[in-house]
Amino acid sequence: MTAQTSVPTSIRPGAQWRNWGRSERTRPEFVAQPTSVDEVVETINFARDHGLTVKAWGAGHSFTSIAVTDGVHLDVGALDGVLAVDDTHVTLGAGTNLHQLPALLEPLGLALANMGDIDRQTISGAISTGTHGTGARFGGIATQVRGVTLVTAAGAVLRINATENPELLPAAALGLGALGILVDVTIECVPTFLLHAVERPEPADTVLNEWLQRSAETDHFEFYVWPHTTTALTKSNTRLPGDEPRHPLTKFSSWFDDEFMANGVYRAIVAAGKHVPAVIPPINRLAVKLSGNREFTDVSSRVFVTNRTVRFRELEYALPIDAVPDAVRAIQKLITDRKWKVSFPIEVRSAAADSLLLSTASGRATGYVAVHRYWREDPTEYFREVEAIMMAHDGRPHWGKLHNRHAESLSGMYPGFNEFLAVRELLDPGRVFTNDYLRQVLGK
Ligand SMILES: Cc1cc2nc3c(=O)[nH]c(=O)nc-3n(C[C@H](O)[C@H](O)[C@H](O)COP(=O)(O)OP(=O)(O)OC[C@H]3O[C@@H](n4cnc5c(N)ncnc54)[C@H](O)[C@@H]3O)c2cc1C
Repeated sequence: MTAQTSVPTSIRPGAQWRNWGRSERTRPEFVAQPTSVDEVVETINFARDHGLTVKAWGAGHSFTSIAVTDGVHLDVGALDGVLAVDDTHVTLGAGTNLHQLPALLEPLGLALANMGDIDRQTISGAISTGTHGTGARFGGIATQVRGVTLVTAAGAVLRINATENPELLPAAALGLGALGILVDVTIECVPTFLLHAVERPEPADTVLNEWLQRSAETDHFEFYVWPHTTTALTKSNTRLPGDEPRHPLTKFSSWFDDEFMANGVYRAIVAAGKHVPAVIPPINRLAVKLSGNREFTDVSSRVFVTNRTVRFRELEYALPIDAVPDAVRAIQKLITDRKWKVSFPIEVRSAAADSLLLSTASGRATGYVAVHRYWREDPTEYFREVEAIMMAHDGRPHWGKLHNRHAESLSGMYPGFNEFLAVRELLDPGRVFTNDYLRQVLGK
């Protein structure tokens, strides 16, 4: 029997925790806020020796219970910042938030190759769930990982990169938090670049017909189909060298579109729609008229990222890229047939195929289709029916967004599923890092 370790100084009694989407809450027995790798090791040894599970939490931006534990919640927020730079490879503390990156990377002349909608997440949380942006030639953030340092269940500090334990990288770069605690992450960055953004309302049917061509031709193409309208708002971003002239949005235009319309007015609209659903269709038509017609050029992070303050819940599936038009049309028909009033758009993005074991784009060019519901509305029925459509199109659920899939149905969806389970068995045989979510999606 292992000798029981005393309570490390970085550990205190747990407090109530909620995720951003308010779909999960927990009161863990302990919260640990380590300020060094040694304190992470101490925490894991303490938890393991006392029969407690450990989960790191990042920024709490997953909608699923993937970050939940009743044991020790480990906040890696103090392990942040740039730890090393080697040409374009930058090693970041695991708790670095994506919104810190422009200030950290721009002085080095570097940027992330691609980003998602927001930048509140931590780098470790983002890679652990396969967070992605859009662009048929670009992978999600985890595909840029060139190395990680992980503290395992045995309390060992394990380096995984091209020269040390390289065979573990396809699992550890996107590990669902199941393999250990990441303490640093090395990302391959790219030279700073600008994006020329064109945002337009267009006929949804045309956009769906042209989906494959436009996502292939445009560096970063995405669109939002508004229920109860025939319109899609398209966003086409083209990469330009970092020294080209910038033409950013004016302060007023940026505030009006991104804060006032997208957050302020929108919050009032979706809140009203919860009580009087009949107002949703005309309001969606108005929203489409008032937004999404602009063109500007700015540094990549400012174009990729938007500020989301209207709380919602989300389901997102990764489909074979050519399945997107049929799937979106099926969702449109579902909403019409069921006479549902849905205030949030259907969001469509793309990613290149990659070779990470549990990446939702593993082995296939991918189209992502996401649906959302205001956080005070019950999403169950809408999400369940959309999920059935996604499954009929061979879909894989985003690990951080709501879904109902289990290991039995997921294992056949990923060529590397069993290899991932073998790595987990090697690094965490006693399941120190498990929780209900991991038991659901990975099995025991
Ligand atoms: C408003 C909003 C917008 C979003 N936009 C996008 C988007 O554009 N694209 C997209 O793909 N997703 C998007 N997401 C989903 C989000 O990016 C992911 O759920 C992401 O994992 C959240 O990161 P986080 O830092 O909050 O991690 P958390 O949700 O806190 O944790 C996620 C997982 O990472 C693990 N983890 C965290 N830190 C560590 C560590 N140090 N070591 C080991 N494991 C760790 C946790 O244990 C957990 O398993 C969005 C979510 C929200 C709420």
